[in-house]
Amino acid sequence: MIYFKECPKCHGDLYAGEDIHGPYLSCIQCGYLRDQPVEKAKPLFRETFVIDAPKTAKKRPKKVRQTA
Ligand SMILES: [Zn+2]
Repeated sequence: MIYFKECPKCHGDLYAGEDIHGPYLSCIQCGYLRDQPVEKAKPLFRETFVIDAPKTAKKRPKKVRQTA
């Protein structure tokens, strides 16, 4: 897929490709390279990345000390 005149550097044409790092946009004219956000390509991918860590780890024992 080609995005015409989308290059932020030279306003050239961006070519959408994909390698092991994921999807990217590359300028045909100047060689500008930009990674494409994975969320746009795979909307469901975001759901698997919700990290819900247990919050008990941050709980500290309460120490009340009286100094005279
Ligand atoms: Zn360019």
